Amino acid sequence: MDSQDNLIQTAGQLFIVATPIGNLADITYRAVETLKKVDWIAAEDTRVSGRLLEYYDIKTPMFACHEHNEVKVAGHILARLHAGESGALISDAGTPLINDPGYRLVRNIRQTGLDVIPIPGACSPVVALSASGLATDQFTYMGFLARSGRSRQTQMQAIADAVHTCVFLESPKRIVKTLQGLVEVLGSKEVCIGRELTKMYEQFISGSAAEVLVHFAQHTPRGEMVVMVGVSQTPVEITDMMIESEARKASYEQLSPSARARTVAQCLGVKRSRVYDVLMKAL
Ligand code: SAM
Repeated sequence: MDSQDNLIQTAGQLFIVATPIGNLADITYRAVETLKKVDWIAAEDTRVSGRLLEYYDIKTPMFACHEHNEVKVAGHILARLHAGESGALISDAGTPLINDPGYRLVRNIRQTGLDVIPIPGACSPVVALSASGLATDQFTYMGFLARSGRSRQTQMQAIADAVHTCVFLESPKRIVKTLQGLVEVLGSKEVCIGRELTKMYEQFISGSAAEVLVHFAQHTPRGEMVVMVGVSQTPVEITDMMIESEARKASYEQLSPSARARTVAQCLGVKRSRVYDVLMKAL
């Protein structure tokens, strides 16, 4: 393990620092150390992060970097990094860039050849998944679902069709509508909601979409939520057509037939030899 003493070896680095998602103790030594040592901190909301900095007695100056000023602030940050300063990017909670600002900034900085260094920590979708009891070997993270329209329908169908766990974020205001939508498409799939994670009223609510809906008819939805949808309880029969359609996905195009057969077999939970036979006939 690297020594913490030489944490910041050279100037001109931007640290992407994960902060707690509720419980203030959920921050790493390295994160606190980094936030103390950098020249400045770019925070999504300086008032929110002010509380964290005060708790850990971090005196580093802060300025705002949020989705509305990210492009403008990127120029300022780049100039300061080029001048030899080091900085940290933090969001209100959890891992920056995960449904939080910073993507364009990080891309920009990397393209100029400067270092971007992750300081890992809490990230609500992963925290939720880790204790959900749902399959974790493969999952799709979908951020916030589209609020309406065709994209939302497509996302709902993708969740229903998925052969691995799907994870997305939802607000308490929209959870009932979302569960109503899931009831229509999910069949026997299990839903688990991780609510108020790491906080006093942390809760995991599991069941079919209809059962979780009944829960929220009895308890007003409140607090922050991560929604997870597991794989079907009754094993789905994998047809040759499903194998072929999975194998034709663009993401497999670069793979050799045998690597493609292996990957598709793992993904669908079927024998590699069967996938290979289907591929030989179809492709
Ligand atoms: N970057 C953050 C992360 O790493 O967790 C996510 C930011 S996103 C703007 C905020 C959403 O994350 C919330 O609306 C909620 O869906 C989820 N979230 C954040 N903290 C949570 C918590 N303590 N419990 C459950 N969900 C949480």
